[in-house]
Amino acid sequence: MEAKPGDRVSIRTVHETLEGTLVESYEAGIVLLKLRNGYNFGIKKEDIVSIDLIGKKKEGKKKEARKVNSKLPNVDVIITGGTISSRVDYQTGGVKWLTNPEELFELYPEIFEICNVRKVEIPFMKASENMDYKDWQEIAKICEKSLNDGDCEGVIITHGTDFLHYTAAALSFFLKDLNKPVVLTYSQRSSDRASSDAALNLQCAARVACSDIAEVVLVGHASSNDDFCYALRGSKVRKLHSSRRDAFKPVNTMAIARVFPDRIETITGHRTRDDNKKVKLDDGFNDKIALIKFYPGMDPEIFDFLSTRYHGVVIEVSGLGHLAIDEARKNLLPAIKRAIDNGLIVCAACQTVYGRLDPLVYSPGRKLMNYGIIFLGDMLAETAYVKLGFVLGHRQWKTKEQIREKMLENISGEFNNRLEG
Ligand code: ASP
Repeated sequence: MEAKPGDRVSIRTVHETLEGTLVESYEAGIVLLKLRNGYNFGIKKEDIVSIDLIGKKKEGKKKEARKVNSKLPNVDVIITGGTISSRVDYQTGGVKWLTNPEELFELYPEIFEICNVRKVEIPFMKASENMDYKDWQEIAKICEKSLNDGDCEGVIITHGTDFLHYTAAALSFFLKDLNKPVVLTYSQRSSDRASSDAALNLQCAARVACSDIAEVVLVGHASSNDDFCYALRGSKVRKLHSSRRDAFKPVNTMAIARVFPDRIETITGHRTRDDNKKVKLDDGFNDKIALIKFYPGMDPEIFDFLSTRYHGVVIEVSGLGHLAIDEARKNLLPAIKRAIDNGLIVCAACQTVYGRLDPLVYSPGRKLMNYGIIFLGDMLAETAYVKLGFVLGHRQWKTKEQIREKMLENISGEFNNRLEG
């Protein structure tokens, strides 16, 4: 009898024998086998020697993918799009959204061995490059509601990878007095693909959502192996690779924890769960801000333009904190000074990604500081952009001094003063 998707089978290939459940494969020439640990393993048809049926798929009325197990902790899931919510479209060769986003649970039911998915919210289905602060606010609002419900242990958010660190930073500022875990996760390969990273990421995200790590964290592969994930602080994480499973790295800090599907090993200190506290939504945001990168030869007129249209800017400056001044053909200083005098808030973040700004090392840096540029130490430029919008979105911080003070306050672990060098 021919095996069909859903049947348990043993497949003998020219290399090995594997046991698992057959999954519908949309990849030409590939048989897809879901192994016991949830991993989707693709086998080339030409390598298959035999397929033996171990058990037929239980027929009957189609079971809900989402099962309720009242003995497990309750977690709410927010699905927002991205590769993790997509499948390969074999007509175009690209990927498209899953027809029913909850299909994710049909593809990865292992999550139900860790937690009970109490509620699923799908505020929108978008790639992360199409999001803006209104989407971050919408996600934060749903988180607030879930986290303040005594029945919910934590929240998992599935998200696109490309601009995930912006959402992570936004939630880190918008969710004040965080009481429970908020876990963002992703996949680099669509959920229906052989060797998708979604299985491990979702299981580890569920583990963290039930833990006592009351922080906004990103959970994803720690390396290109499929063995464990890292939990990374939302304000200190960045996508640093276009395609690897371990695309996200902690910057200027360490991972909070190593996460396995069955356990968590803490690495650094973290804020801990307090079920008696309530989180507060504090999502003011002013989007008249920009994030730009300094490059040799930059035109000073950019600052004149910014000062007429924008309220703030983050400039990615050189390693220790430089940009072209006195001896340069295009000296930026007069334009920056005019912009600051006009009320533009000018912040500086580190272009090298790793390390911190130290404008006191060279005299040009000191000069820039005296002009009123706010140097943001080891804060990531993307986090700085989100934080600037957040700070300028609050009427209570309106003077230059108040804004500077807030930008330099460590609100959500965005500064790491223990960083050496
Ligand atoms: N462009 C997609 C996004 O960021 C890619 C992904 O999900 O990995 O939503």
